[in-house]
Amino acid sequence: MRIELASDPAAPPAPNEDYAAVALPASGAGGALVVLDGVTPPRDGDTGCVHGVPWFVARLGGAFLELAGARAGTLADCLADAVRRTAAAHGPACDLTHRRTPQATVAAARWDGETVEHLVLCDAALLLERPDGAVRPVLDLRLSRLPRDLPAEEMRNREGGFFTAAADPEVAARAVAGSVPRTEVAALTALTDGVTRWTEVFGLGDWTALQGRLRKAGPQGVVDEVRAAEAADADRGRYRRGKVHDDASAVLVEL
Ligand SMILES: [Zn+2]
Repeated sequence: MRIELASDPAAPPAPNEDYAAVALPASGAGGALVVLDGVTPPRDGDTGCVHGVPWFVARLGGAFLELAGARAGTLADCLADAVRRTAAAHGPACDLTHRRTPQATVAAARWDGETVEHLVLCDAALLLERPDGAVRPVLDLRLSRLPRDLPAEEMRNREGGFFTAAADPEVAARAVAGSVPRTEVAALTALTDGVTRWTEVFGLGDWTALQGRLRKAGPQGVVDEVRAAEAADADRGRYRRGKVHDDASAVLVEL
């Protein structure tokens, strides 16, 4: 087994709001990984919370990884419990009903000798590579399918819109989740949208090509390629994207 992880902040010294971690073994067999991308609130915006995004993703990611590794239910069950636990860790000064309460996108996977389970919420992604090299992306397309003229901010965590992990555990049931036999997975990768822009924004190749680069150059090598593409279009004149640079995280697991 080979596991490689990279997590690169968009603009140091600003903190990295991604979270990426792997647990081996998970309850004696296999393993688990969790990748989160904390949603950056508007610079001048009130979040109703005295905590920052890094506090939130560290709490949520740590709880989710612990529960997934302990096999405390399905991945969706574990995410729901992790959201519940993190919500309880806020204090009385935090208004968890605030629409900008700290929140994150999610990609997670767990495997044992028999099965690979996967879960994606919002615009994080998982790539599942078959032994024959075919790559299947696991994506939650609700955000990308919103009409362009709809302000995404208003459609967040709302029926008919898209969903992130915030303070409501019910959101876990809305994640794109499933499982495949382990014999059908040679490798898998979890990515935040700071890395999927390699394919989705810069068009450096399709998902199969991206997985190939992750295998060959490693997660840090691919992050470096994204940074080079961003630097070559620093005024965002050619490639449409919300931020010039974004926190970028990737976990590659070759089973
Ligand atoms: Zn708080």
